[in-house]
Amino acid sequence: MTMRNNEACDYKASLKNAFGDACVAHCFFHIDFFHINFFLLSTFFRKKVIMSYREHTKVIQIGDRVIGGGNPILIQSMTNTPTEDVEATVEQTLRLEQAGCEIIRCTCPTEEAARAIGEIKKRIHIPLVADIHFDYRMAIMAMENGADKIRINPGNIGGRDKIEAVVKCAKERNIPIRVGVNSGSLEKNLVEKYGGVTAEGLVESALDKVRMIEECDYDRMVISIKSSNVLICARAHELLAQKSDYPLHVGITEAGTLYSGNIKSAVGLGIILYQGIGDTIRVSLTGDPVEEIKSAKKILSTLGLRKGGIDVVSCPTCGRTKIDLVGLANQVETMVQGYDLNIKVAVMGCAVNGPGEAREADIGIAGGQGEGLLIKRGKIVRKMKEEYLLAALKEELDNWKG
Ligand code: SF4
Repeated sequence: MTMRNNEACDYKASLKNAFGDACVAHCFFHIDFFHINFFLLSTFFRKKVIMSYREHTKVIQIGDRVIGGGNPILIQSMTNTPTEDVEATVEQTLRLEQAGCEIIRCTCPTEEAARAIGEIKKRIHIPLVADIHFDYRMAIMAMENGADKIRINPGNIGGRDKIEAVVKCAKERNIPIRVGVNSGSLEKNLVEKYGGVTAEGLVESALDKVRMIEECDYDRMVISIKSSNVLICARAHELLAQKSDYPLHVGITEAGTLYSGNIKSAVGLGIILYQGIGDTIRVSLTGDPVEEIKSAKKILSTLGLRKGGIDVVSCPTCGRTKIDLVGLANQVETMVQGYDLNIKVAVMGCAVNGPGEAREADIGIAGGQGEGLLIKRGKIVRKMKEEYLLAALKEELDNWKG
């Protein structure tokens, strides 16, 4: 039982009237002691919940990377070039690698695409997941050509014998299988059973698929549940995390354009990851997949789940702002992407409040009227013309020693 502040004050006053100060002090020692213990215990358990699922998922190797069992959460994306076009797919994958992508998925709808995996693999440096729909032969062909993992829905590849053939091939090569279910293709019987597309239905569907693979005596699996409904998606992950110890690939599917996709993904992934759930992530956006990587890194670093990279903070601007702060902040954000520094950079709009408001940043710039300031941990270290601010910040970052 907890007591809110005003209730505690009323209670304290009534005790004082009835029994005097000594009793109040004695009782409140116990109440405070209770509250402190409650706070410590709840913090302890919350921390345990946050840590527990991710730390106890099965460890699965994908190519030369390892996920599950508390290993770092890896960022995935998917190419949107035809996989048959080796040049275009390699070029896009290399750009994604450069941005920080750690696992890439390529669709394999044709034999030509499944065969292209072999050539693509030779020219990229991160594990490749072959995405298979309907045709089990593409799964086998992709694995024979070096796919590090396959993504299938065992419910739509044509029956038990086909699943067995795919699992046999995966087993021989120790290749993990990602079992995916999507709210858009939830089985009719589960939609009817749960009165619509629900988190419970998605979890039941996913566990049914997992069982199909387990019945073939294989357990190198990763599960993914996708829904474009953020709350259903988050709830499904919470339920699944209580029922399975396979690593989870998490993401909000069909999240939308840069604007709405980023917001939905940040909210959904934020809820899921903060509960200690999720071993790999994808931010699904309609646009250049490089944007997915930038957003995924930001979500992970905001949640304290990944270190490294400069965090740029900037003020919202107000009537005091006399410089093009929007342009400056965007330039700074682009500029810092090349630095592997774990620091905070502030971009502030005025010389009056800027230095104070940038106090928590390691370094910052603040604009004035035609001139600007360079600030280090809230202290002004240099004054210069506005046009030199960006270059001055760059020089500081180039020579950063902490
Ligand atoms: S830092 Fe200055 S310009 Fe920016 S919001 Fe604060 S007062 Fe306004």
